[in-house]
Formats: sequence, C-alpha cells, structure tokens
Amino acid sequence: MASGKRFAFSRRRLLSCGPVAALAAAMPFRSYAATEPLAGEDYYAKLGVQPIINAAGTYTFLTAAVMPTSVRKAVDQAARHPVRLKDLQKASGEYLARKLRCEAALVSSGASAALTLATAACIAKANGLPPEAIPGGVAGHKNEVIVQKAHRYEYDHAMQLCNVVIREVVTVDDYRAALRDRTVMTNFFNAAESGEIGREDWVAIAHEHGVPCHLDAAADVPPIENLWKYTGMGFDLVCFSGGKGIRGPQNAGLLLGRKDLIELAAQNDNPNSDAVGRGMKVAKEQIVGMVAAVDWLLEQSNEGMEKEFLRRTAVIQRAVETIPSVQTRVVTPPIANHVPHLIIDIDPKQLGITPLQVAEELRNGTPSIELNPATGTDGRGLMGTPNSIILSTWMLEDGEDRVVASRLRSVLVQKRG
Ligand SMILES: *Cc1c(COP(=O)(O)O)cnc(C)c1O
Repeated sequence: MASGKRFAFSRRRLLSCGPVAALAAAMPFRSYAATEPLAGEDYYAKLGVQPIINAAGTYTFLTAAVMPTSVRKAVDQAARHPVRLKDLQKASGEYLARKLRCEAALVSSGASAALTLATAACIAKANGLPPEAIPGGVAGHKNEVIVQKAHRYEYDHAMQLCNVVIREVVTVDDYRAALRDRTVMTNFFNAAESGEIGREDWVAIAHEHGVPCHLDAAADVPPIENLWKYTGMGFDLVCFSGGKGIRGPQNAGLLLGRKDLIELAAQNDNPNSDAVGRGMKVAKEQIVGMVAAVDWLLEQSNEGMEKEFLRRTAVIQRAVETIPSVQTRVVTPPIANHVPHLIIDIDPKQLGITPLQVAEELRNGTPSIELNPATGTDGRGLMGTPNSIILSTWMLEDGEDRVVASRLRSVLVQKRG
C-alpha cells in the first residue's frame, strides 16, 4: 500500500514535469512518424544502380567514403527530429573546435564550399562588405587572393565564385611585392607537389601584412593529427573534406580556424538566403554525421588504420605476385591520400592484357570493382607507369580484399595458355 509520503512525492513530480512529460512518462514513446533505424528498401536495387567495390580511393565521382556504422546511426537519429538550424550549426562548431583544438569551426557542405566561405569571410574582413555584396559588389574593393603558381588547381573555382582575382607568385620577393593593400587572403594547396615557399614562411610573411592564410588540406587525413597541425602552425583557416579520410557524409566538410573569420564565414552561409553560401546547405543529418565521423576518427589510431590497410593489401599482393611478369610494390603518397597504395607492374605482352583493359574487365564484372584511376597512366603522383595497375584498400568493406584478389588474379591469368 502506498504511503502518504510516496504519494506526495510522485504527485509533486508529476506537476513539476507538466502535462507533456507526464503523458510521455505514462505511455511508451511511439509517434505516428516513428522511423526504424538502418532498415529500409534498397533503393540502389529499385533504381537499378549498381553498387561498386571501391579499390580506387576517396574519389568524389565514386561517392568517396562510406560512413562507419556509428556515423550512420547518428545520421538516422538526427533525421527523426527537426531542430533550429542555427542552433545546430553553432553547437556543432563549438564541439568540433574543442575536439580539434582550434578557436572555431564550421561544418560546410564540403571542402570546396569551405574554400568559398573562407574567401567570402576574408573579403568581408578586409572590406567590411555584408553578405549580400558578395560576389556582386566585390569589384572595386580589395579583391585579390595570392597563390603560388605551383598551387593553382581546379578548386580555384571555389574562390572565384566570390569574384576575387587570383594573383600568382613564385618567389618570396614576388610574394612580398604582391601583398599589397588589395589582398584579402592567401591560399596554400597543402598537397601541391612543388612551390618555392614553405608553409611557415608563407604564413609569417602574410601575417607581417595582416593578411589571413587559408590552407586546403581536403584529402589530407590520415594522419589524424593533421586536423590540428595546420591551425596550430598559424594558418588562419584550414579546410578538410568530410567524406574522404574522415569518412563522414560526402556532402560535408570542415572549415577550422580563427573565431572572427569563422563567424564571418557563417554569416555568408545558409540558412541566410542573400549569401554566397545559400546553395551550400548542409542538412541536420549531415551536420550530425560530420560531428559523429570526427568522433569516430578520434577513436582510431594511425597505426591501427595502416595495419589494417596493409593487411588487406597483402591479401591482394599474395594473389597476384606469383603470376609471370607481375611485380608488386606498396607506395604511400606523402600528403594527400596518405595511405598504402598497391602498384602492380605487369608486362602486357606476356599477359595479353593491358592495365586499362584489366580496369575495364573489373568494372564490367560482377561485382563491379573500381581500381585507382591512375591505372595505366604515368602514375599521377602515385609512382606508376603505363604498365601499372594501381589500387588502394582503405575504402574496402570487410571481405572485399579477398574478392578483389581473386577477381584480379583471374583477369590477369585468363589470356595465357
Ligand atoms: C577533394 C578535394 C576538394 C573538394 O572536397 P569536397 O569535400 O568534395 O568539396 C578540395 N580540395 C582538394 C585539394 C581536394 O582534394
């Protein structure tokens, strides 16, 4: 039998919680829109789109990384409730800044969008222009971005969206001369293979002129510590792709750096409509997915990841290295895609098949396998030759190393005898 005291307690509790909480406490929570996690129709099958085995790497045209289960669960959870977008943008930025040891952070719709928002922020900083004046009102104000000639790349487009003029420099003297009163920022392509001016000098000289420096490190995780290395080095803004080595949603990315500039980047971002970033929306699911992916990555170790990638690589290596004329080597690029790549050098005459034909056969087979697009080329920085088959194992799912090994072996031996 309930004592008077217990009754008084539960009654007070009920009243203090209010009617909604009381109802929820009385009934198990089950809304009419309840969604089940990680179960649903296979829309790839429904649409007739063939999934692939990704032995290529984190290429955007191959939809880059798949998200680890913990990230997919976080995305699913986030999809169940609306929030105020600005609350989520602000809280995720503050959380990421703490975890990634920088002043401030913003989840963008990718590294490319982060570069656009960085440019808009630096234009705003230099000129005091409001978001609605970018790009239309930029000409006639400070509008130059300084870049080393060897650092020009296809993502310059992301800066040019803000109507800036890119000014190329080669030597330190050029650089000092270019840093005039028209400069709004500098951009440093972290994985550039050449360029006379190193990172430290690049930043120090710009800072003598009060000019902020952005660094594009989109594909430069692992190692994990790169997420704080470059902001720690003094770069004012640094961007990363969310869907590459971090394994977050492919339409997410990170802009990390100075608080004043990140705030300006956010002003030029959605949900503000009269802003260059309006079309670069990151939905709540992807913002949460990006944060969850960073959490996932920070629980990994560089050594643990490398060991697993090498184990998978060895499975494939063992399957092909006994084939006549075949030689294998493992190459790790120095900065971007800094993971082991397997290079399989073959003699096409002896095997009766070229590397490009091997790639085509694997692509057309079942399951469809994608090799690295540098296969059969001069190597594109991966130290291959036109006789090289190139692949990486870091984007493979469990068991796919064995599938790639046996398919590759059978394609390489089929023409002989
Ligand atoms: C992949 C990449 C980008 C673009 O990244 P997204 O996240 O797809 O926008 C930008 N810069 C460099 C150097 C890259 O490798």
